[in-house]
Amino acid sequence: MSEVLRVDGLKRTFVQGDARIEVLRGVDLAVTPGEIVALLGPSGSGKSTLLQAVGLLEGGFEGSIQIAGEEAASLKDVDRTRVRRDTLGFVYQFHHLLPDFNALENVILPQLVRGVSRADAAERGKSLLGALGLAERLTHRPSKLSGGEQQRVAVARALANRPALVLADEPTGNLDEATADVVFAEFLRLVRDEGSAALVATHNERIAAKMDRVLRLHEGKIE
Ligand code: ADP
Ligand code: MG
Repeated sequence: MSEVLRVDGLKRTFVQGDARIEVLRGVDLAVTPGEIVALLGPSGSGKSTLLQAVGLLEGGFEGSIQIAGEEAASLKDVDRTRVRRDTLGFVYQFHHLLPDFNALENVILPQLVRGVSRADAAERGKSLLGALGLAERLTHRPSKLSGGEQQRVAVARALANRPALVLADEPTGNLDEATADVVFAEFLRLVRDEGSAALVATHNERIAAKMDRVLRLHEGKIE
């Protein structure tokens, strides 16, 4: 299997009263292992809709999504959960860390869910957080971290289970420009070091240009 993600003819239409909004009108794309791909488009172009479909978070679409060779539409619930847990990592615009757990615990938890021992999960968590410059922040709760630090923890959590594919939806979109550039550079370096592939939604040309390849979403299709 040569692709970690393959999308063919993906369509998604939202019905609002009498109006039909055709957000995705036949998206085709592929991501190979280790490749970091930008999904570039203005606000409202359907980036989040596409990532939600690829993240197996939403049904209601037409077309084919294959993740590491497995066809999404034919997965049972239990298998969809397995693919999400074992193959995908997620980073959102807002960190979505668990507020009652500290930074390290937030990175340990998804590993425990996967059956990793607590000691191994802690070691991995410390290593990832250390690589992101957070060695001195392990026991801080999210509310005691800056916005950039919160997103770094979210990045460490997304990579904790060594996902083949990271899905990131405007991962630095809530940060000021200078912080966004630093956090995004660290995200790229760590994803590359880990050997994961990534599909990263952004409306920012400058951030998109830092990736291996840029896909432009325009009028519901990849240009
Ligand atoms: P982006 O992430 O590129 O900003 P989105 O995927 O969030 O774009 O949204 C694309 C379009 O789909 C927008 O016009 C939005 O209003 C519409 N949309 C998204 N989700 C829904 C929904 N659940 N119901 C109706 N319309 C939606
Ligand atoms: Mg969006």
